Amino acid sequence: MSSTDPTSPTQPTHADNSPDAAAPSGREDGGDDSREIADALAAVCDTMRQSCRKFMVAENVPRVIAVSKRQPVARVRAALEAGHRLFGENLVQEAEERWTPLKADCGDVELHLIGGLQTNKAARAVALFDCIQTLDRPKLARALRREMDKQNKALPLYIQVNTGAEPQKSGCLPADLPELLALSGALKLTVVGLMVIPPADEDPALHFALLKKLAERHGLTRLSMGMSGDYDVAAAMGATDVRVGTAIFGRRTS
Ligand SMILES: *Cc1c(COP(=O)(O)O)cnc(C)c1O
Repeated sequence: MSSTDPTSPTQPTHADNSPDAAAPSGREDGGDDSREIADALAAVCDTMRQSCRKFMVAENVPRVIAVSKRQPVARVRAALEAGHRLFGENLVQEAEERWTPLKADCGDVELHLIGGLQTNKAARAVALFDCIQTLDRPKLARALRREMDKQNKALPLYIQVNTGAEPQKSGCLPADLPELLALSGALKLTVVGLMVIPPADEDPALHFALLKKLAERHGLTRLSMGMSGDYDVAAAMGATDVRVGTAIFGRRTS
């Protein structure tokens, strides 16, 4: 059998998502947890692939941000052993405690902040995370600029949009987005996309559609939308990133 055989089953799935893509060699001993999490990751990707096919979405299947917040560290390690490298956390302090050692062990992890950020934690967030998805106001844009200058870092950012205009939720209102983007541009921040958490009691598809429209209007390419309950819908509507916790790891411990 030739290694160039075009029929050989080697078509790359999405490298970011593929459970075995980056599995460290000689470490097939992850045990049941690792197998179970690899299967759950594969199932998420498979569901999205079917959803994209059904709705004829030309774009690639979204990458999976495995949301590890409040999960037992053994499950997170199992995901790493299964080869997954892209993770999300919503709290700076909890993420520091968990990920400082894990990142030391596993250098190619990419960690996204997906929870609201207070300006007084901007320094620690810039130090730990590889991407911040929750830029939502001018004050935070300025704080991130200052910290990235100090730490000589240039993190990609997403702007979180509060499409449901929910007062308790972070995110900038759709009407305030042009101004925040203009400021971000003036500050030379690298805004790559938009992120949304739809209101719990509304059809998420409407919010995903609005987010996509806003991104297109402003020439932004990345769309972070979809969680365990609706990542298939998000995939069909053009998400580039889904943020999936319980569907991969099971119920959170606290
Ligand atoms: C917790 C969280 C998720 C993951 O939620 P699941 O329902 O467990 O998939 C996604 N996005 C954000 C912003 C979160 O805080």
